[in-house]
Amino acid sequence: MTDFESIIDQKQAIGFLTTLLKKENIPHALLFTGIDGVGKHDAAMTFAMACNCAEFDSWKCEIEDSNANHHSKEKTAVGIPCGCCRSCKKIQSNSHPDVLSITPSGSFIKIDQVRALYQTLTMKPHEARYRVVILAEAQRMNLAASNAFLKILEEPPDQTVLILIAEKKPDLLQTVVSRCQHIRFNPISRNTLASMLNEKEGRNPDDAFVLAAMSKGSLSKALAMSRTGWTNRRNWLIKAISSDPDDPMAARPAGLLFSIAAQLSENRDTLEDDLETMKSWFRDLIIFKYQPEKIIHRDLLNQIKTVSKKFTMNSLLHKMEAIKSAQFLIQRSNTNIKLVMDMLMLKLASVDKT
Ligand SMILES: [Zn+2]
Repeated sequence: MTDFESIIDQKQAIGFLTTLLKKENIPHALLFTGIDGVGKHDAAMTFAMACNCAEFDSWKCEIEDSNANHHSKEKTAVGIPCGCCRSCKKIQSNSHPDVLSITPSGSFIKIDQVRALYQTLTMKPHEARYRVVILAEAQRMNLAASNAFLKILEEPPDQTVLILIAEKKPDLLQTVVSRCQHIRFNPISRNTLASMLNEKEGRNPDDAFVLAAMSKGSLSKALAMSRTGWTNRRNWLIKAISSDPDDPMAARPAGLLFSIAAQLSENRDTLEDDLETMKSWFRDLIIFKYQPEKIIHRDLLNQIKTVSKKFTMNSLLHKMEAIKSAQFLIQRSNTNIKLVMDMLMLKLASVDKT
């Protein structure tokens, strides 16, 4: 079930939302920012439920009631929707006629979508106390759509809450941002994510720690990584970019390096993650020399201990820089990805150790 309690590690954001609900001070427009997978959409849905919860109607009279021990009454008293009334159920099943979700059509949210929304908002809500519009990936509004949306924000319809969801404020027009109450959703702490992966996904503590660190505070990313065999991919990658452990000075055949580059270049989406993984590996080899307790890949401690010793700091820093340059080049649209990866593999395989 969607509720505020299931949104982890966002005390401040949820506290702010429940305060608005408690005071029945519902703003016309809210902007939720934060990386993917930290609970922004669930918070928007829960807020929509709370605004319209049938139980919520009576919270004011129930909160002072010392006999308010009925489950739903307790929940509504702190601004949390009951989850079981008709309205809550409709919103949860995405079938409420007054809770509207707008998502990009193709790469963008287009002006036609915003015009259609404008038309809908000129009419009265069908049944909601507060009509709620959730604009996911609001940064994908093109300029024309943004300007059309600004018109809605300038004359917000009654009993309507517009919730914009985006990664960060600068991705939106300043004039749009300034008309919204901004609520930031922080990345989830590494410890919280690791405990959750340990308890709910059954990952051992070291595995859970690595996944939590590599997901950079995104619950959805951590879960996806855990469930799609990220650890196996990482192990393959490390093997692919490492020299022969029995003969680390031996030059690696260029044909082998180019075939690995070809495999990595096949999918641009996975390539970005693969490069991040490689970077984290060299980061660990560097950091192990000074602060071994701060490595990410704790499950590979013995391997890191052995390999880190074999390279000078300078050599490791060069390899790290080579990966960063490749990342930079790959983000450009006209890059020959295979060529960039060929060069990277050669640089990573260079045997300039002491
Ligand atoms: Zn309800």
